Amino acid sequence: MRIKNWDIFIFVIVYHLLLVVLAPFAIRDFSWTAFWIFFVTNCIGGLSITVGYHRLFSHKTYSAHPFFETVILLTSTLAFQWSAYAWSHDHRKHHNHVDTELDPYSIKKGFWYAHMLWLFDYDRTIDKSVVADLEQNPRVMFQHKHFLALTWIINLAILGVACIWLSPLTALFYSFVLRVFTVHHSTWFINSLAHTWGSKTYAKELTAVDNAVLAVLTFGEGYHNYHHAFANDYRNGIRWWHFDPTKWIVWSASKLGMVKNLKKVDRIRLQKILVKKDKQMILERLNEESGSTAGNLATKLNELAHAFDTKASLLNRKYAESRKTSKSKSEKKLIRVEIKHLQQELAAIWKAWIATTRIAGRLFQLSHAH
Ligand SMILES: [Zn+2]
Ligand SMILES: [Zn+2]
Repeated sequence: MRIKNWDIFIFVIVYHLLLVVLAPFAIRDFSWTAFWIFFVTNCIGGLSITVGYHRLFSHKTYSAHPFFETVILLTSTLAFQWSAYAWSHDHRKHHNHVDTELDPYSIKKGFWYAHMLWLFDYDRTIDKSVVADLEQNPRVMFQHKHFLALTWIINLAILGVACIWLSPLTALFYSFVLRVFTVHHSTWFINSLAHTWGSKTYAKELTAVDNAVLAVLTFGEGYHNYHHAFANDYRNGIRWWHFDPTKWIVWSASKLGMVKNLKKVDRIRLQKILVKKDKQMILERLNEESGSTAGNLATKLNELAHAFDTKASLLNRKYAESRKTSKSKSEKKLIRVEIKHLQQELAAIWKAWIATTRIAGRLFQLSHAH
């Protein structure tokens, strides 16, 4: 690695040094005011990246009112991650070329490269064809053009406000240095840890993983395997209990009329895609294995996949029927009972499917180890 981006390099080194040098003073002068200044600016900065840069501008998983966009484009300067335009460019390249040479933060180049070292040597020229849609957005282009000025004005203003309650050095630590440190590493974890440590359910061929602990550290972005498989879903954690504050904010904003057109993959479609994809992948691998276990597994997988497909299509037909207004009340009641049965059957097949794919996974591991 050769350092090309000296400005980023110096900035990162300086704030890490400041963090260490100022820590003794900051610990001595700790107050709850200082903590809240840190915590609130940390959440605003981090969430601006996940809600705005990531799910809105990079992936267009929902559309937002110009006012909402403007707020995000201003508050995201607390995160020091360059403009939404440049960020989305790099991130789209990451998705399009994940785990290859063209991925700007490829985990294949090592954990620390994906985490932060890539920032110091990556090529900052922007391929306009990757972000042609964003070029049409005057707010995004304004932020891109005046990014440094906006960033310093807003951050110095926050520092100034913090100085009302805190001594200048403590204010510098809590309202700036510590926040930049936590927001940066939180985002960086998504490129390093979320491509290393966790489980793969949705896109087993990729390095991206799902990890609930990481979701807590990254405002909900830890469900990264799902995200790489279905990047146009506004959610990363798809279950209601999955910790994904970014999803909750987008959903709440939609209830307030600030954002709309929230895109999501419905569960049956998602499971259907997974069954098709995993069946193909596992059968290919099973072909390489010998013995009766592999043969039995292949038969079981084929049977389950067929059963899932049949029941899912039937269920979808029943959903469509239940929406028809021509049906009488008693007919609709009957359809609802049928739907319930089908849902239960489908859930049981899905459970058996997951169990069978796990057995296949263990078999591959065993044969790999020998
Ligand atoms: Zn993404
Ligand atoms: Zn990724």
